[in-house]
This record gives sequence, C-alpha cells and structure tokens, in this order.
Amino acid sequence: MDLTAFASTYGTDEACRAHMESLRWPGGPVCPGCGSVNNAVPVSTKPGRWRCRACNRQFNVLLGTALEGTHLPLRVWYLAMYLMLSTAKPISAMSLHRQLGIQYRTCWHLLHRLRAMLASGEKLPLSGIIEADGTYVGGKPENLPKGAPRPGKRGRGTTKPMLFAAIERGGEARTVAVPSASVAAIAPAPWGWTRGAATLMTDELGAYRWPDAERQSGIGRKMEAYHRVNHSQREYARTTPGGLRAHVNTAEGFFSLFKRGIFGIATASLPRRHHQVSPKHLHRYVRRTSPFDAAGHEFRYNGRKHDATERIACCLIGRHGRLRLRELFA
Ligand SMILES: [Zn+2]
Repeated sequence: MDLTAFASTYGTDEACRAHMESLRWPGGPVCPGCGSVNNAVPVSTKPGRWRCRACNRQFNVLLGTALEGTHLPLRVWYLAMYLMLSTAKPISAMSLHRQLGIQYRTCWHLLHRLRAMLASGEKLPLSGIIEADGTYVGGKPENLPKGAPRPGKRGRGTTKPMLFAAIERGGEARTVAVPSASVAAIAPAPWGWTRGAATLMTDELGAYRWPDAERQSGIGRKMEAYHRVNHSQREYARTTPGGLRAHVNTAEGFFSLFKRGIFGIATASLPRRHHQVSPKHLHRYVRRTSPFDAAGHEFRYNGRKHDATERIACCLIGRHGRLRLRELFA
C-alpha cells in the first residue's frame, strides 16, 4: 500500500480506531475491568469510548497498549508507523518532525514508544540453520574525540556493549544488546531463541572468539550442531561433512544493512551544511541510538515480505502495557 492509498484509508481517527478495534477485539469490545466480551455500549458523548454493561467501567481500545493516554491524534500515530515501517532504513525523530509537522520532542517520544512496541512482541523460536554474529556499538576507538578515555582493549575484552544477532536462513532475525562479548553474556541468547533445536554457524573472528567452542564447551554446547568458518584463514564458506554450507553471509548482510541505516540517520539529522558527518558526532550518535534502532531494524527485516499495513498490525498487537517516560530513561 503506497502513502496515498494509506492516507486515504487511515486518514481519520475514526478509521484508525476501527482498524485497531478489529485487531485487538475481533469478537467485540473486551472490558479490561471484568473481562466481559461484546457486552459494552458506545458512550455517545466520547468518540471511541465504551461502557461495560456488566461492571459499568468505561474504556477505549488504547487502554493497556503503548498508546494509552496519548494526546496525539490516532491518525498521526498511524502515519508515523507507516513512515517508520515502510522504509528499509530507520527513521529519525528529526525526519519525522519535518514530515509530520509536529514538535521534535513529541516525535522523539513517539519513536521510542513505537520501537518499544516492536521490541516486545511475541516471537516464535528460530529453527533450521542459524547464523550468529555480533558488532560493537559505540564506534571505533580511533573515532573518539580528542581527550576521551580510550577503551583498554579492542576485540574480545573491550568494555563496549555489543549488539548480537542470530538470523535464520530464509527466516527471521533476533537481536539483543549484551553488556560484553563474553560467552556467558552471549551464549544464552541463541539457546533461548532456538531452544537448542537448530544448527548454529558463526565466524571465529571479532567479538566473540570463545576458545573452547570447538570442543563443544562454548556457544555450540547446547545446539544440535555447531560450525565455525575461519575468516582469518580466508575461509568464508565450506561444505560440512553433513553436506551443509557453512557461512555467515546472511548475518553479515543483516549487519551491513543495520550500519547503513545508522549512517543514514546520522547524516539526515545534522544540519545541511554538515553533510560530512564528523567522526566525533558519529560515534556519539551511534552509541545513543543503536539499542533501540536494533529493534526497528529487526522488525523491518522480519516483516520484509509484508506490506506496511500488515507490519502496523503486527506492531499494534505485539505490545500490551503502556510504556512510560521513566522506562525509556531507565
Ligand atoms: Zn466490565
């Protein structure tokens, strides 16, 4: 669905609300007080509000979602979701501010709520062949501003947080930000995402060079099978004895898209005369935005075969429970 069609279908608060009600309440309004289904009447003076016949409580479709208590019109939320979910790159608060004509601060908060909605949806286990890889967030040490403290180590042993991802070949991706690149911090993620019922593939370079992996005491321990490719020995793909192709090209593609997205943001959010993003700003920007953008990137990647309205539906039904400002800053 293109923007014109989307704007004419979801151009009014009533249309958006009807869409949301049909998603959340396929069997009629559900009272959050007593749980009665389809036993409520509309409150004539307040559009969108229902009154439960059983317990007399009044409620609307936003109650219990991340949109609860919002002062923004629902059609603005829908437009923001469309803009956020229909492009390959993450959208910045500044860009949303320009396109929607609402305050930057409001856009910033709106984006955080949406990203939290995306991150919290229910996810099915990955299976088959899983490629895992990680990248440090926070830029490279040589890009730090003059006088900033340098990280003591590079590669394994650095204190920078890591974004770790596992991608099912031909399927979905899962990401998590971990505080360090130790086996203890990383390994539980793929075990949990796959429940162990999958073949894991990684490279041996970079962040997570766990020395005992080959002896099945590292990340591969709880997996059905585990294969490593040795990029340092210029081995990028090989055929395993079982006839599988061992490589991590899918994971590398996922990360290169993610990094391109961040660079896109950094450029777009700076004043026009600063087309050349200075490394000083870049590292700060990457560090500040990565954990949340990862959720958006994962969601867009997983929904790449869906159209914008299907992605909005996934986004809306994934999250229950309002996200408050202090949760964002915690
Ligand atoms: Zn009730």
